[in-house]
Amino acid sequence: MKATSKIYVAGHHGMVGSAIVRKLEAAGFSNIVTRRSSQLDLREQEAVRAFFREEKPDFVFLAAAKVGGIVANNTYRAEFLYDNLMMEANVIHAAYETGVEKLMFLGSSCIYPKFAPQPLKEEYLLTGELEPTNEPYAIAKIAGIKLCEAYRDQYGCNFISVMPTNLYGFNDNYHPQNSHVLPALIRKFHEAKESGEKTVTVWGTGSPRREFLFADDLAEACLFLMDNYSGRELINIGTGEDITIRELALQVKKVVGFNGELVFDTSKPDGTPRKLMDVSKLHSLEWHHKTSLQDGIALAYADFIEKHVAV
Ligand code: GDP
Repeated sequence: MKATSKIYVAGHHGMVGSAIVRKLEAAGFSNIVTRRSSQLDLREQEAVRAFFREEKPDFVFLAAAKVGGIVANNTYRAEFLYDNLMMEANVIHAAYETGVEKLMFLGSSCIYPKFAPQPLKEEYLLTGELEPTNEPYAIAKIAGIKLCEAYRDQYGCNFISVMPTNLYGFNDNYHPQNSHVLPALIRKFHEAKESGEKTVTVWGTGSPRREFLFADDLAEACLFLMDNYSGRELINIGTGEDITIRELALQVKKVVGFNGELVFDTSKPDGTPRKLMDVSKLHSLEWHHKTSLQDGIALAYADFIEKHVAV
């Protein structure tokens, strides 16, 4: 990307897109194009086409998606499949039609088979059954990867796919039912501390293992890969370190300062037993994450207080 490049960040209002915009601005890029979903519904093909024809961006970060935690994914199965398929198909096709120089599609670690060997290497895509709770979302994201590959193969487009691990950070979604585990725990421990409750309920058995990356680190990796990676193969973005949900809950408990006990609600699903990215490809390009989980949780908690609690 050059200082004068016109850069469209799709999904700039979300946690990932807003982090990418902040990193771009901090790096001196000023020609950044954004639209709220109320201004441009990415599921509408004609609207997306008109937007691309008018703005003609040089670079596109495709960070717009319908996302959520394990219960949201499992409940809104039709929306997770339809909305994500439509958004990515419309944006990728319009980017091809208007000659976008380079596009980055953001996927997810849930595209890998439920029982794939760990850590998850990029080549494990499509080697087994998906986790049922998030199969619609995963199928949509796999379609996005395949669109990038196919447009590269047939039309020579420089479209790349990156697969972030579980993310958390500023502007996260703290919905009690629909959020991912880390923001959900921040909220639960905070509310329990404030109301003087003795216990906090953690879903599942606490034994699944997950990897967590601070969204600002992800954004930095995205800028880095936009400039330094043009491969046809997808590329994982993570820390290469995972912990159990029980260990995560204990870390969040400590940061928030809650003194009670954990209770595990095993009527809720565990999901995939383990999701740890193999990040050797990313590390071989000399990019490593910076924010430790402990520091990241503290930063996210401060942001939660500021946006959701402070009056
Ligand atoms: P996943 O990585 O796609 O499975 O999505 P989540 O981030 O929603 O869940 C990760 C793991 O954390 C699952 O095993 C959940 O059952 C567990 N978990 C424990 N407590 C919670 C909670 O309050 N909310 C969510 N979303 N997950 C929780």
